[in-house]
Amino acid sequence: MIIAGAAVAVSACSGNKEGKNFKYLLDEFADLKVMRYQVPGWDGLSLQQKEYIYHLAEAAKWGRDIYWDQNCKYAIPVRKAVESIINDYNGNRKCEEFDQFMVYAKRLFFSNGFHHHYAEDKFFPECPREYFASLMTEVGVENAEELLNAIYNPEFMPQRKATDGDDIVAGSAVNFYEGVTRAEVEAYYASIEVPGDKTPISYGLNTKVVKGEDGVIREEAWKVGGIYGPAIEKIVEELEKAAEVAENDSQKKYIASLCDYYRSGDLRKWDEYNIEWLQDTLGTVDFVNGFVEDYNDPLARKGAWEALVNFKDNEASKRTEILSANAQWFEDNSPVDPRFKKPVVKGVSAKVINVAMLAGDSYPATPIGINLPNADWIRRDYGSKSVTIANITRAYDCAAQESPKSTLTEFAYDEAEIARAKQYAAITDDIHTDLHECLGHGSGQLLPGTSPNALGEYSSTLEETRADLFGLYYMADPKLVELGILPDLEAYKASYDGYIRNGLMVQFNRVELGRPNTEAHMQNRKLIAEWCYEHGQDMHFCDDEGCRWTTAIEKREKDGKTYFVVCDYPALRELFGELLAEIQRIKSEGDYAAGKALVEQYAVNIDPAIHKEVRDRYAALCLKPYGGFVNPTIVPVEKAGKIIDYRLDYSQGYLEQMLEYGRKYSAL
Ligand code: ZN
Repeated sequence: MIIAGAAVAVSACSGNKEGKNFKYLLDEFADLKVMRYQVPGWDGLSLQQKEYIYHLAEAAKWGRDIYWDQNCKYAIPVRKAVESIINDYNGNRKCEEFDQFMVYAKRLFFSNGFHHHYAEDKFFPECPREYFASLMTEVGVENAEELLNAIYNPEFMPQRKATDGDDIVAGSAVNFYEGVTRAEVEAYYASIEVPGDKTPISYGLNTKVVKGEDGVIREEAWKVGGIYGPAIEKIVEELEKAAEVAENDSQKKYIASLCDYYRSGDLRKWDEYNIEWLQDTLGTVDFVNGFVEDYNDPLARKGAWEALVNFKDNEASKRTEILSANAQWFEDNSPVDPRFKKPVVKGVSAKVINVAMLAGDSYPATPIGINLPNADWIRRDYGSKSVTIANITRAYDCAAQESPKSTLTEFAYDEAEIARAKQYAAITDDIHTDLHECLGHGSGQLLPGTSPNALGEYSSTLEETRADLFGLYYMADPKLVELGILPDLEAYKASYDGYIRNGLMVQFNRVELGRPNTEAHMQNRKLIAEWCYEHGQDMHFCDDEGCRWTTAIEKREKDGKTYFVVCDYPALRELFGELLAEIQRIKSEGDYAAGKALVEQYAVNIDPAIHKEVRDRYAALCLKPYGGFVNPTIVPVEKAGKIIDYRLDYSQGYLEQMLEYGRKYSAL
């Protein structure tokens, strides 16, 4: 049963619990921006759940040095030198060179090393080497020359992960291999892997490959008593404290398996842990902790250490539950031909989470969704856990609004459009995603005899188009207000403005000039926006208020700039419905020719003049392409020697946090 107007908390960026003073954007430098995220729902957790999260978060922070050392064996020594300069340098701090040193320090912390976290190339301080050397001398850094060479020499370890060159293993700065060539590593693994194994362990995931003095290649494990032993012992210690206050036995069991794995280095145990972990769907609190993603390894075997602690977002999950519970109503009322509708439809409740701690490979740059485990055979036999991280997405949106310059202010036509977006877009973006994921993809049915592969190379673009249209059509439905999902009947307009602005302009900043639009989601957005723009000119439209000739979307010019402006929202909704019906027909009948024609006409080719204009306007905004986050501090609240609560403190700054982590969680 649904209570209309239920308080489904969809907070806009301001006016939330932390009040209007919560600032998301903390700092910007080089090509980076640092933000904070809030953790909604914290106060609704029990003391035991908070304690559980607290220890999982401690376990997360204790792994920090592992990730630094994996990136490059000079990363920690360089960081320690930089930390002691920031902490102890007594000379003049008010000069350009010191500022340049500080920018380098901030970049170093951001990338967990001196290679760019995304581009992989070494970056350099802008202050002269002699100046950096003088800072080191002043605070008494040992091995200063060796470290300065690591920092300044462009020939020395130029890339974290090499993708070309003579030998991508020897040419990579990552600390996964020592004294071995790519051919030797490949031969080594070929010799130990079992051909035809249906459930293979993830060979090499948690080891370094070295050549002994005897010339024999071997692996050294990252485990208690092995490489990274002191850090892993701390992780295990905190995980065991966490297990004592876990929510249920299944969590206790998989934490025990994870600790066994950390002690033994046995990858079979890692698989066991993953299977137990992915089957636990009852707990509110969840986490990732281990050697997980292999993107940093040139040979894609070695897991970068990462951790992330999260708990289910009950408000957002309530929203997806409401939508799922009403899935049949949405199916029955869609503008699609009844023959193509599902007689019985089941919505999907996507799990939405909020993170409370990020670490290792997930800190400060972090993903907005997770799908684990990675082992193919476990995914095949047991499935995987897939979640979206609501508070990180929210923080990105809200931080963008705090910038004086944004794609919104640049590409929105007037103040009213900007104000609408600021009031509603954070909410409507989430709801559109929910409609797309929970209902859109699952709606509709194929006619008997239609092959699911009938649309060939156009199928993913058309499928995304269908799911997006389902969401767009229902955004404007009073049903959403009635269900308490949207606050009022105006909100959807922000979503329509944004969709058209993005589909016809903003998104083209990501395509090189002269190139076509090829990515499936970008194609689907362009297809929808272009089709509606074209069909919305001189359109005859009838609704409750009668019939009229109207223009749904207008192209306007102002100060030499182009804008696409939604002029008639009900008419645009009608167009979304019309196109949805057609795309569903194409899918249900497997009409390849019609699908192909739509994609080729509306999705691929970008008007060269618009394309150039978008690229120029976007470049002039000088936006920071990469973002990362500081964590809140989880503070135990004591009374008479007893912990009575854990409080979240958001006041810590970026450098402050980096220095604190360096001071407290330095195990290596
Ligand atoms: Zn989709």
